[in-house]
Amino acid sequence: MERMSDGSSFFVTTPIFYVNDVPHIGHAYTEVAADVLARWHRQRGDDTWFLTGTDEHGQKILRTATANGVTPQEWADKLVEEAWKPLLETIDLSNDDFIRTTEKRHEENVQKFLQHLYDTGYIYTGEYEGFYCVGCEEYKQPGDLLDGEGDYAGQKVCAIHSKPVELLHEKNYFFKMSAFAEQLLALYEERPDFVQPESARNEVMSFVRSGLDDLSISRSSFDWGVKVPWDETHVVYVWFDALLNYVTAVGYGQDDAEFERRWPATHLVGKDILRFHAVIWPAMLMAAGLQVPHRVFGHGWLLVGGEKMSKSKLTGIAPTQITDTFGSDAFRYYFLRAIHFGQDGSFSWEDLHARYTSELANGFGNLASRVIAMVNRYCDGVIPAAGDMTDADAAIRAIERTATATASIAIDRLAIHEAIGTVWELVDALNGYITEQEPWALAKDPEKRERLETVLNTAVRGLGTLAVLLSPVLTKATATLWTALGGDGVVQDVRIDQAWEWTGSGTVTPLEALFPRIETSAE
Ligand SMILES: [Zn+2]
Repeated sequence: MERMSDGSSFFVTTPIFYVNDVPHIGHAYTEVAADVLARWHRQRGDDTWFLTGTDEHGQKILRTATANGVTPQEWADKLVEEAWKPLLETIDLSNDDFIRTTEKRHEENVQKFLQHLYDTGYIYTGEYEGFYCVGCEEYKQPGDLLDGEGDYAGQKVCAIHSKPVELLHEKNYFFKMSAFAEQLLALYEERPDFVQPESARNEVMSFVRSGLDDLSISRSSFDWGVKVPWDETHVVYVWFDALLNYVTAVGYGQDDAEFERRWPATHLVGKDILRFHAVIWPAMLMAAGLQVPHRVFGHGWLLVGGEKMSKSKLTGIAPTQITDTFGSDAFRYYFLRAIHFGQDGSFSWEDLHARYTSELANGFGNLASRVIAMVNRYCDGVIPAAGDMTDADAAIRAIERTATATASIAIDRLAIHEAIGTVWELVDALNGYITEQEPWALAKDPEKRERLETVLNTAVRGLGTLAVLLSPVLTKATATLWTALGGDGVVQDVRIDQAWEWTGSGTVTPLEALFPRIETSAE
């Protein structure tokens, strides 16, 4: 696709998938949020880049690969092909790049970054003893540990994984993170939207105020990782390695023009990994003399039956369980509309089914079907011209413009749920308009022919505006609708900031139900 680029640069990232995970709706949630932002910015003419990928190093991957009788690279290759790339298709992502941390473009430039920090004195040799959780791939503080129960009685276990931690003593390389506490606090003060939402910002600030330790950034007890360039008996700590994907993917160390064009990014992350992104990552960038991210947004958790969704809990739901029945559009719409982006949200099959039926099938889908059917029935499929406009017609035109402008502002604030809610005011307004104007009654009276044509013209234009405004979310249904309306070109190429400017061929074609009824009750 020809990319429009008269706007500003917009680079959005998701956390890279830990290959050993099993894809669940929590992963897909972050991805569709980033995808909607990317699609919106692209359609606004911004120079947009959407990055995702996989995190493939670390001790746990080495252990599972060995247990499965393959090399860690073979293990990662298999998981990328069988689990992660298919997820992109399942939820219809438009990512521009997919980076794997085992790629040469990543590994070589992680080494360059590290060597630079070493040469400038931000890395030193030290010793470390602490409790290490292989599940988290990090050293845990005493406050992060619980007393084990059952099989693990008498041992300390990780509060997240409920598995025993290991007491490790290592000669390690350390990053002087403590040197950046003041600079980080100044950053949070000067740029209040650097960490969002507000609750996340407060948590990060109090964490940094309590004092920062230096960070152990190498391991020598296993070798599945990026080699430390000046000491190949060590590999780079997996988080230090993984975070750097955000710059290696856009040319850091190898393509200055590309890096200049893309960086800095907007990072979307789950709030459980906020500290890595809002503390460690900007400190690493400051040490390297690079710009910190544009912003770090920590979204909430998906709760299923009141518990956080995760792979270690039985509540894990595969995205295909939803898309196989409801389709990718409904998946994208549901999670971004029903959950206030930034807060925790509860998922239930009942709620999904209810919103699918009332909002997508009855609200939007039925509106589209009725309007197109009436243009076919009363005007032989030719979109009529509008005559004199009444206040009711003008009100619809006005809502089209305000929805376009207001939704765009909400997107800039990353308030995706608000953007969709604003657009839905147009869905509701058009449904109300059709009910009040009664085009089926106007059609019975030849004297009211001009009025009928004005109403249908207004309704078609409104649907065109909806198709454009909803195209970043309902990627498939809006493409189908746009074609049925006879819209010019492909809806994803239409400027979203001018969504009300309908351009079409003048004839409609029959439209199948955009959201067929799903009678099966919740699973
Ligand atoms: Zn853990």
